Amino acid sequence: MKKVTAWQCSFCGFYKKTKKSVMEHEERCYLDPEKRACATCVHNLFSKDYFETEKELTNNYCYARDVYLLKKNLRINCSLWGIKNKV
Ligand SMILES: [Zn+2]
Repeated sequence: MKKVTAWQCSFCGFYKKTKKSVMEHEERCYLDPEKRACATCVHNLFSKDYFETEKELTNNYCYARDVYLLKKNLRINCSLWGIKNKV
């Protein structure tokens, strides 16, 4: 057994041994608030009620745009984006 050193994304748990891989990941990580993406937006409601019959899709719903956040509806740099309060 040997110990390894790794690099980790500042926003999510993603990690790799090479700094370059993680730098590339951070460029597109949706949990970076600067991306103004659905994942960090206050308008993204997480509710099991919305998707009782379609659990395989998503439980996320944007109440600012009134859309379920399926892949095709996910946004970055959204003009309606607002920061989620940290709990
Ligand atoms: Zn990340």
